[in-house]
Amino acid sequence: MDARDSIARRVLDAKDGGLAHEVTFIPGDGTGPELMQAARRALEATEVQFVWDVQQAGLDEFSRHGNPLPPATLDSLRRTRVGIKGPTTTPVGSGFRSVNVALRKELDLYTCLRPCKAYEGVRTRFPGLDIVIVRENTEDVYTGIEYQEGTPQAARMIALIGELGAGVRSDSGISIKPISRFGSERIVEAAFAYAKRNRRRRVTAVHKANIMKFTDGLFLEVARKVASRHPEVEFGDIIIDNLANQLMQWPQDYDVLVLPNLYGDVVSDLGAGMIGGLGLAGGANIGEEAAVFEATHGSAPKYAGLDKVNPTALMLSGVYMLRYLGEDDAAARLEHAIAEVIRKGERVTFDLKEDRNDPTAVGTSEFADAVIEELNA
Ligand code: NAD
Repeated sequence: MDARDSIARRVLDAKDGGLAHEVTFIPGDGTGPELMQAARRALEATEVQFVWDVQQAGLDEFSRHGNPLPPATLDSLRRTRVGIKGPTTTPVGSGFRSVNVALRKELDLYTCLRPCKAYEGVRTRFPGLDIVIVRENTEDVYTGIEYQEGTPQAARMIALIGELGAGVRSDSGISIKPISRFGSERIVEAAFAYAKRNRRRRVTAVHKANIMKFTDGLFLEVARKVASRHPEVEFGDIIIDNLANQLMQWPQDYDVLVLPNLYGDVVSDLGAGMIGGLGLAGGANIGEEAAVFEATHGSAPKYAGLDKVNPTALMLSGVYMLRYLGEDDAAARLEHAIAEVIRKGERVTFDLKEDRNDPTAVGTSEFADAVIEELNA
């Protein structure tokens, strides 16, 4: 996508003498492998040349080798600097920490871009919606600085908080929420850069600065300062709970939203719901040195292996990857092909049907066939 100017991409000579992009390909787990297979076929059907470096991450890899994010996968991403990734499961409460959070942190993929565009033909109360979520990807409560209830570490934190003049119950678990000036500045700059490059009219900073004065308050202060450097783009701010309401009532008032990590995560799923569901929401994690493209949705494990779920979100992530690689024409063709399949509404997956039990719904692989036929039409 748009940070492509700042990244040296790795391009290899293809067998036919043309150029091929070397891309790290991470199938993930749950429905990941089947979705990634569909996305890969659609990307290859654009006739852009790829050399896929297939690497593993996620629950299956953890079960096999005890590490959900092996060093080889990170090494590959550091070398190719571009990856496309299927969803990976994160156990709730205990077990290993999120592979996604680790990847974003390790590679400093600080910008999470999640365009939410309602394509013609989807079931939505928000036809024509076209907003972009710019989520900060490395700070906030996602830094994983946590102290488990009942541990000596939690007791020390609670004692320290007491010394600093505040009270916390002794049976508390504690998660820390750091938000820095540096992190806020670069994500708001990224939002304005995106707005300018894509001729977007307005950036809105989302926060809860009335309550969290020193974290969200800092984010807002920095956002206002950054906005003053970009007077050609409108700027506004809104408290997160008010956004949840206003987005439902007056979505046309919003364009590019820039948010700290947790709000960005939640609003991404809200945006996905507004455009017709998680199966339609693609995304990109972009840093100065690398970018990883992946859907907003998770591994949807109950559908794993059923050839049932919608590969659109991963295919759109592939569209954003093509743009990032400078393959704008192929990106436009693939996006158009996906949009046409959705508009026609015949060979689409269950989530895009009026009735989710509609027997005419096709599976993941046939949806990919339909997109490929549309590309070749
Ligand atoms: P999920 O996004 O996997 O699925 C929630 C529901 O959304 C599904 O049951 C399904 O009804 C629908 N859905 C999701 N993707 C779909 C698709 N492609 N087509 C049609 N319908 C789709 O959310 P979850 O169940 O909360 O999470 C499952 C696992 O995924 C968890 O372990 C979570 O941590 C992980 N997760 C991973 C990522 C990632 O890898 N980037 C992102 C979010 C969640």
